[in-house]
Formats: sequence, C-alpha cells, structure tokens
Amino acid sequence: MPGDGKMALRAHGPLKQMGGSFDKQAQERIAKQQESVLRGRVSGCLEKSVRSRARFREALRAWFGVAGKDYPWRRTRDPYAVLVSELMLQQTRLATVLEKRHYVRFMERFPDVKSLALADDESLLKAWEGLGYYRRARMLREAARAILQDHGGTMPSGLAALRSLPGIGEYTANAMRAFAFDAPAVVVDGNIARVLARLADLHEEIDSGAGKRAIHELAGLLADDGHPRAYHSALMELGQQLCKVGAPMCAECPVSGFCKAENPSSLPMKRPRVGITKVVEHAIWRRRDGAVLLHRAGGARRTGLWHLPVRTEDEVSGMKELLVTRYPITRYSVELRVWSDVTSSASLREGECWIRMDEVDGLAMATPMRRALMRLLEEKNRM
Ligand code: SF4
Repeated sequence: MPGDGKMALRAHGPLKQMGGSFDKQAQERIAKQQESVLRGRVSGCLEKSVRSRARFREALRAWFGVAGKDYPWRRTRDPYAVLVSELMLQQTRLATVLEKRHYVRFMERFPDVKSLALADDESLLKAWEGLGYYRRARMLREAARAILQDHGGTMPSGLAALRSLPGIGEYTANAMRAFAFDAPAVVVDGNIARVLARLADLHEEIDSGAGKRAIHELAGLLADDGHPRAYHSALMELGQQLCKVGAPMCAECPVSGFCKAENPSSLPMKRPRVGITKVVEHAIWRRRDGAVLLHRAGGARRTGLWHLPVRTEDEVSGMKELLVTRYPITRYSVELRVWSDVTSSASLREGECWIRMDEVDGLAMATPMRRALMRLLEEKNRM
C-alpha cells in the first residue's frame, strides 16, 4: 500500500525559503543544488533496482491486459490515425471524443494523410466542430501536408523528424514514437505525471521547471523500452481508472506495492492557478426573408468559424436582449449576450453575409455559438 516506502521526494524546505537577501547568482546556485538533490531522490525511486523496475512494469502491463479499455485508436497501427487521436485528445476530454464519435467521424471524413492535406478550410473546421481549439485542426492539416511533401506520404518515425512536423512538439513526438511505432520514448501527459508524482511521493509542483524535470527523470527511469506502447497505455489508463484526480482507488491498484505516496489524494502539487477573467461579448440577431446574418471570423482565435455578428456595448444599447449564455474558454469565462437588431437598413460589415436557415447546419461553428443559435431558432416568435 502507499506510504510504506522510505524514499519520499521533497524539495528542501529551508532552501525553498531562501531568496530576497541573496543575489541572483546565489539563488541560481541554490536552485541547482536543490534540483540535484531532487534528481538524486528521483533516481532512488523503486530502489534503483532493475529487477524491481521490471516487476513494476510487469504488474502494470498484466493489469492493463485485463482492464485496458478498447478505444478506436488502440485498434490501429496506422501512424496517421494515431496522430489524429493524439491531437484530438490533447485539449478535449476523452469522454467527449468518445460519446460524440468525433474521432470516428473525423477518420471517416479524412481517412488518410492525402485526404487531410487536400482538405479546404470549411470542411476541415466542420469535421472538427465541437472539439474546440480549432488551431489544432489546422496544424494537423499542416502536418499532413508536410508528410506528403517532405516524406512521400509516409509518417517519419524518428524523434527529430517527427518534431520537425508542424504542430508536433516534444510530447506528441514521443507519444507517436510509443503508440504508433512501439519505439522507445518518454511520454508524460497529465495522467502519467499524476501517477508518477504519487508513486515517488513527489512534493514538488509538477508544473514548475524543477517539478517537470523531476517527473521527466522518473518517467525516463521507469519507461519500458521493451513494450513502449503497452507500458505508456497502461500508465495512462491507471491515471484514468484508478489513480484519479482527488481520491485514488489504491486498494485496487496493481502497483500499490511500489507506491511511496503517504497522502496520495494531496498529490500532485501544482502552482496556484491563474484566476479566471470574466468577459462580456455582445452579438446581434438579425433576420431577413428566411436568412440570418452571420459573420465569418478572421483573426487568430476563430479564423474560418461562423458566428453571430459581434457589436460593442454602445452599439447594442436600446436593442432588446434575447439571450444570455455563458461558456468557458481557456482562462476566460465569457458571457454572451445576444440582442435583437431590427435596423434592416444597416449596411453589412466586412465578413458578414446572409445565410439561409437551411444552410446553417452545414457551417463550421464553435459549440457555444451553435447552441446559442439553436436556442434562438427554436423561439418560433423570432422566426
Ligand atoms: S492508485 Fe496511485 S496513489 Fe494509489 S497506490 Fe496506485 S499509484 Fe499509488
């Protein structure tokens, strides 16, 4: 059970408190010393013994063989399909991707590198609708184009070549190595970081520089180069099923005998969260002859997505409020207020156009905007 080990990983408290009176160089020296102590303790995890690490990996894999979930991307060895799943799951919940069949539908629409490389904006964004963070879809298409142009349509398997593809960073390149090619890699996502922090009883903020390095060190030490795909899948699955955020289910854990956590539910430690900023967005609802006025966004965040035309607070003053809805995006909480605009003579602004009601369904639109639009359309008296 957790807590029976002796090698808890903690940053030195007194060293942590030093600061103000020291000059920058001294502080950097202390930080390095502190990190080296931490590294030493990380490498002491699981008694440094190869046999003990092998037992840990075997226990994990054996459990995964029985308890591992059958996700669509686990049934394939196609590197392109694995890349799609990796990017899709980076900022979207697993349950959302599964329940709404986002992955399956995307793969039906763009089954291979070539079909994605040739996709136009409208069909690409439509296929990504509901997943948010639309920049990922564009980066995925950029990666497909680079694979086609620079690698003859075949996904490269080397770390450096993978990293040279647009939108593929350290994490994704390692995930591709492990899951697509079953090649040695060090994969650390949120689930794995949490499991490792608990296994080693790491009392360091895992999103700090030192914490990330400690987790990475531990991940590299434990990684199973003989079975990279199964090992990393198992570790992720352990984080999803048992070693959950908040209260882990240690009594059912296949590696509890290796776990050093004394108070697992208090781990991992993280830096204080940046506060949520509230913003208010005003949009107008304007209709004419069975059509609604929509705007196709430019700019970095919403490029290509359709939404109700946005106005300033002054511009909507005097209009009738039809709808108020709220949605989160990154560190913002957005209050969307929609106003009835009956100024039929007002000229259209750049990017705005009339869209027939029966065409609205086929447009790419962010989920909160789609929901708002549907609610407005359902109000028969506004039709
Ligand atoms: S569930 Fe997590 S905290 Fe509990 S024993 Fe397993 S690895 Fe340790």
